Amino acid sequence: MATGRRNVRIDGVTPLTRFAARWTIRTAMETYDYIVVGAGSAGAVVANRLSADARNKVLLLEAGRPSHPWSRIPVGYAKLLTNPAANWLYSSEPEPATNGRRIPVPRGKLLGGSSSINGQAFVRGQAQDFDTWAQMGNYGWSYEDVLPLFKRMESYRGGGDNRYRGREGPILVNDPSPADEVFARIIQAAGQVGIRHNPDYNGAQQDGIAMSQANIARGRRQSTATCYLDPIRQRPNLRIQTDALTEAVLLEGTRCVGVRYSVGGTVHEAKAAREVVVSAGAINSPQLLELSGIGQADRLQALGIEVRHALPGVGENLRDHYAPRTRWAIGKKGITFNDRGRGLGLVGQALRYLLQRPSLLSMVGAPMRAFVKSREGLEAPDLLLGWVPMLTEPGPKGPKISTQSGMTCYAHPMRPESKGRIHITAADPRKPPAINFNFLSAEIDAELTVKAVRIARSIMTAPALRDWQVTEIAPGTDRQTDDEIIDWVKRAGETTYHPVGTCKMGTDPMAVVDPELRVHGISGLRVADASIMPTLTSGNTNAPSIMIGEKAADLILRSATA
Ligand SMILES: Cc1cc2nc3c(=O)[nH]c(=O)nc-3n(C[C@H](O)[C@H](O)[C@H](O)COP(=O)(O)OP(=O)(O)OC[C@H]3O[C@@H](n4cnc5c(N)ncnc54)[C@H](O)[C@@H]3O)c2cc1C
Repeated sequence: MATGRRNVRIDGVTPLTRFAARWTIRTAMETYDYIVVGAGSAGAVVANRLSADARNKVLLLEAGRPSHPWSRIPVGYAKLLTNPAANWLYSSEPEPATNGRRIPVPRGKLLGGSSSINGQAFVRGQAQDFDTWAQMGNYGWSYEDVLPLFKRMESYRGGGDNRYRGREGPILVNDPSPADEVFARIIQAAGQVGIRHNPDYNGAQQDGIAMSQANIARGRRQSTATCYLDPIRQRPNLRIQTDALTEAVLLEGTRCVGVRYSVGGTVHEAKAAREVVVSAGAINSPQLLELSGIGQADRLQALGIEVRHALPGVGENLRDHYAPRTRWAIGKKGITFNDRGRGLGLVGQALRYLLQRPSLLSMVGAPMRAFVKSREGLEAPDLLLGWVPMLTEPGPKGPKISTQSGMTCYAHPMRPESKGRIHITAADPRKPPAINFNFLSAEIDAELTVKAVRIARSIMTAPALRDWQVTEIAPGTDRQTDDEIIDWVKRAGETTYHPVGTCKMGTDPMAVVDPELRVHGISGLRVADASIMPTLTSGNTNAPSIMIGEKAADLILRSATA
């Protein structure tokens, strides 16, 4: 590292660092062993593990800010959903399955990335997800292979089986209590329609209804910024540069030798003696490859970008969970957080939070979830239902608690087969790429979405909830046929913010990285984040993205010693 800035732990845009940045570029090109682009769920982990060896000089570049006050408080995620200070605020292109709407695609833009703004539900997915990846030719990614990584990254504070759960990792994971009536009754109602209570869906079996395990401890979010970066900020061999937009990876022939990035309008170049790891997430990783001349040749040429390496899969294979929110009015008072989280109730919730008691402020995004099979005979569940014990409505600063008392339950297939794409529309790194989800283009996705909505209906109308005086608001009792339900989904559906797959791992012609996450055809360049998932995992995607960071670090360190 030739910068002489070893005593600076986090660099951001201040008048002083702006001066220092100019000085740096004029005097020397910085050289590191490894450069990691993006300090999100995966990138922060990669930087931590690589810099654990003091001989490795590591540069971690993050386009966003160091932190945001709302990021630490669990409920703050609602405040960050529409906040440009910590969110890229992307949106999708209009398409038939969204009835021509653009739908929001929030992404974290700060240390910790989306793990600093997400709903904090901690879900690994199923053993079958990873076994499927392995069967697709990705050796080293079966559940047996990745289970030790899932264990290594967590300190699970619930019960469960030590064969599956880790107790000493950096991320604290807790089970919210199911004792509150609002949750206990839904567990009972699910039981009445044949869905069993399974407290540890991250253990041996995923099936059943459970409280959402949460990466929240002592009322604080457990992001990769707090769990993987905060404890190592003093490492002299790690430089974390925030407010640094990486504009391209630098290539010499087919070897990646570094990156170009800008801080406060000043352009820098940094060299990587060993490798560059792109961990910019499922939206920005393919964007960065395309800006660097790696992607579909025709598309790049049309934008005036020199094709450095034709790779047709870049930006393809986009998958996400398209999830309609069913909405229910609850007549009985005192049950929902619409009754308990407004006015004086909110003061009470704040006091409970300060006393570290269960509170709305420390609540995981959707505190209860059910993993359900759409039909008898399936090996594993294929549908997810998630409950939020209140109704919300859009407000100028993000969703706000509605005055009407009720409950929201989203319902969707977990492994959608519809595939979309993300591509740049200009050679300008500041211009958002076009996001085309192509939702419901696979018939099975529409069929399973209808089934999921019908299961939500059956639970919400089960005898255990009868005295709550439940009334269906959406889709509404007038929508009964499959076509009517799908019509509503198209008008109202949103995602659960899980885009993946745009730099797919594999060995087929559309794969972008190989099973060791090396970009096909380019040496010294890997991608490690949610974009490498060949298929969407069965559930939320933060824990699998962190696991990918852990795996990437192992692969990089192993190849360095080989
Ligand atoms: C609102 C929301 C709620 C969610 N809820 C949950 C949940 O409850 N549970 C769950 O498991 N998952 C949830 N997710 C999904 C989960 O958080 C993501 O799948 C996961 O964080 C993705 O990790 P990643 O490493 O791929 O990308 P990210 O964590 O998004 O990291 C990418 C990082 O790269 C940076 N970056 C991008 N481009 C550049 C560039 N050119 N130069 C430098 N830096 C760059 C970004 O600023 C960001 O910090 C949610 C996501 C969102 C947005």
